[in-house]
Amino acid sequence: MERFDAIVVGAGPAGSTAALRLARGDARVLLLDRARFPRDKPCGGGLTYRAVCELPVSVDPVVEDVVDRVELSLSYRTRVERGGQGPLVLMTQRHRLDAHLAEQAVAAGAEFRDGVRATALELGEGQATIRFGGSAASAPVLIGADGVNGLTARTVGLGARSHGVALEGNVPYAHTREERWRGRAAVDLGAVPGGYAWVFPKGDHVNVGVGGWESEGPRLREHLERACSAYGLPSGRVDDLRGYRLPMRRAGDPVQRGRVLLVGDAAALVDPLSGDGIYEAFVSARLASEAALEALQGGAATLDAYGPRLDAALGRSLAASWKAKYALERSPRVIYGIARIPLVWGVIAAFLRGDLAHPGEARGIVRAPLRLVETIGSRTAA
Ligand SMILES: Cc1cc2nc3c(=O)[nH]c(=O)nc-3n(C[C@H](O)[C@H](O)[C@H](O)COP(=O)(O)OP(=O)(O)OC[C@H]3O[C@@H](n4cnc5c(N)ncnc54)[C@H](O)[C@@H]3O)c2cc1C
Repeated sequence: MERFDAIVVGAGPAGSTAALRLARGDARVLLLDRARFPRDKPCGGGLTYRAVCELPVSVDPVVEDVVDRVELSLSYRTRVERGGQGPLVLMTQRHRLDAHLAEQAVAAGAEFRDGVRATALELGEGQATIRFGGSAASAPVLIGADGVNGLTARTVGLGARSHGVALEGNVPYAHTREERWRGRAAVDLGAVPGGYAWVFPKGDHVNVGVGGWESEGPRLREHLERACSAYGLPSGRVDDLRGYRLPMRRAGDPVQRGRVLLVGDAAALVDPLSGDGIYEAFVSARLASEAALEALQGGAATLDAYGPRLDAALGRSLAASWKAKYALERSPRVIYGIARIPLVWGVIAAFLRGDLAHPGEARGIVRAPLRLVETIGSRTAA
């Protein structure tokens, strides 16, 4: 049996950054992934600036476009463009981002084994043991970063309570006007119940996608066709079409049991409004690795600090996102009208850039429309 200070199962954004931080903290870390890298994952590949600020390494080598303008629409009818005051979202592709982060973890000293599927997790006295391909490894800390439907959350009985679904694909610039999309993203509110449609620019193509309530699953292809037609993208030219689940939680849902800490999608951290999960993957990786290092270095007897710290970091945004999601569901026209107010857009942009920790921290008259969103959302959720 091999022994490590920490084992990380899954080398997506959450797992690789947790392994990287642990290795930088002088822990002996094993990072496992069932896929051979580089591997892709269904994702729009939008990296908000606030997510990038969470990273201890640069992602410049894998950035394909920088979005500073967003075209907002309501059910593909009224459209308005906002932005132009600086970068908001970096565009990458997951096979490139994830390989880059795994390489950074290795450079920091983590041992990375790809093409290795964890098949069982056993919890013993002071140790967690992971079994894979006839071998086993144990450590006093195990970080479950194996995404939605993963083995680790299932084994410790902490799976997601609700899910969204999303479907996305790529249209090469050979089939759409590149100059229309460079530096510009499109987001439509109202057409897909419980979510939105998007177009994101990449190096040699645009990514087009739709996401919403899990019950929209059977209609996602229809929603995607409609998005393509609204944005002038030939639906017959959508390559690499892929769908996946978006796991979501409520503040306070447990993310740790004994020696096991869950991060990223394994902890169901996808934001219910935006459908983004990479920022949450990075935040949870930072907090989990800090709690792990404190325990490994003898500064803490348990890993129990992780859950409360995660709620302190994400709980407020999570609650606000659930309310805004319900408000959008109930009154898409009102929410669209509010989102397009230049002052409100300024708050959204500051939040995306990481200049504002939470929209609720905005001051001045902009608080009135933001409160209205909260009120509509609270009434709908009640
Ligand atoms: C269609 C779609 C579009 C999205 N667009 C965006 C976006 O633009 N921006 C954004 O921020 N978020 C987006 N998200 C959400 C984002 O993709 C996830 O939140 C993010 O990937 C979570 O990262 P993670 O590291 O937790 O999990 P993952 O990226 O899912 O990584 C989990 C890893 O675990 C490995 N694994 C699983 N089981 C095992 C096992 N038994 N043994 C070993 N390894 C295992 C997998 O191979 C995988 O590499 C989108 C999601 C979807 C579905």
